[in-house]
Amino acid sequence: MVQYTKVPDHPHNENPLLPLITDPADPLAPIALRSTLLEPNTDQFQGPLEKVYLFWIVGASCDGCTIAVTGATHPRLEDLLLGRVPGLPRVELIHTVVSVESGPEWTENLRMAAAGELDAPFLICWEGSIMDETYSGDGYWMGLGEDRETGRQITSLEWLDRMAPKAAAVVAVGTCATWGGIPAAANNPTNAKGVMDHLGKDYRSTLGLPVVNVPGCSPVGDNIIETAAAALLFLNGLAPLPEFDELGRPAWLFTETVHRHCPRAGYYEEGVFAEEYGDKECLVELGCWGPVVQCNIAERGIVDGHGGCMNMGGICIGCTMPGFPDKFAPFYAAPPGSFLSGTTSRAVGGFIRRVRRLTMHDKQRSVRWQDDELPSGWARYKTQPVGAEKAVHRFYSKVQHHNDGGSQ
Ligand code: SF4
Ligand code: SF4
Repeated sequence: MVQYTKVPDHPHNENPLLPLITDPADPLAPIALRSTLLEPNTDQFQGPLEKVYLFWIVGASCDGCTIAVTGATHPRLEDLLLGRVPGLPRVELIHTVVSVESGPEWTENLRMAAAGELDAPFLICWEGSIMDETYSGDGYWMGLGEDRETGRQITSLEWLDRMAPKAAAVVAVGTCATWGGIPAAANNPTNAKGVMDHLGKDYRSTLGLPVVNVPGCSPVGDNIIETAAAALLFLNGLAPLPEFDELGRPAWLFTETVHRHCPRAGYYEEGVFAEEYGDKECLVELGCWGPVVQCNIAERGIVDGHGGCMNMGGICIGCTMPGFPDKFAPFYAAPPGSFLSGTTSRAVGGFIRRVRRLTMHDKQRSVRWQDDELPSGWARYKTQPVGAEKAVHRFYSKVQHHNDGGSQ
């Protein structure tokens, strides 16, 4: 367990008892107070909950996950904040960057959550890995406000430990928060780890959920919001608990491999590989790990269905996987297994590709042109089918029409 007593009193805070803004009508008051003034709009919500609080707390992070979530479109973050998604409660967001209030008014929201004083359930989205405060010497890695009475620095981790037992769900967002990510790479001087590693196997939220994990570096924004929305629908009693895999990932988002939905998968299957970036073929020999990586960015895109590694000509470096980054290093070098699969694919796929080409030529020819030259003025050479193409046509016709008495 973290040794909070190692964190010293704040040396600069001469007046730790500064008055807190507690007037709910003050726009700089904690949202947990301001929110109580909002009249519930019964036309806007279904189910028992009109609102929930969402605490977005950050550990060792680059803020990439925050940027990613603002790109979500199904639904949009703004729609959740305005409470205009049917069936979902309005979301009151407490975020280290975008909240209106700051300083003690901001941390007051956290204190109220930890003390059970909020007037609605709350979720925690944790971004970034958890650095081990027992490794921080006389200082701290992740400070987040001060104790109002003593001025003692409170760490982000301390807030997590206080709030997690009272949260309806804890969602680890991004690979740093889920598995440790880049800060937990080899050597790992801060003993960085994921939320699940910190809270442990036996952790359960008030809804009975272990930590939910939405990995990615950064994750697809829609994966984050869609998971939060699924949890909110469940919380609101309007949907069953969605399926999670044994690593706590939303199963519908992380079961398929990148490779299965990659726009270049057809090249792999036919054994054709890129030799340098910019080539249009499969990138496995340039270092792509897509065949073994579970990630849906190829079919979902990064923002509103567009972009994403494979769609933009990049290789997959396995950023959603618990083994990232160490087990995928060095990046941009052919994965060890690619020699075997690539060689097999070249041999089998090369044969299939040639047979398909013959078939394609046959199908490019209407029945009227079957034994003649193409009537197209664009044709550059004699185009009657010969040899293998004729044999292919006869073969297909025979198989295709074997029920009605032979070839046509
Ligand atoms: S580029 Fe990667 S994901 Fe795409 S087909 Fe090749 S190996 Fe599979
Ligand atoms: S395709 Fe690979 S590198 Fe790109 S987001 Fe998915 S797992 Fe990460």
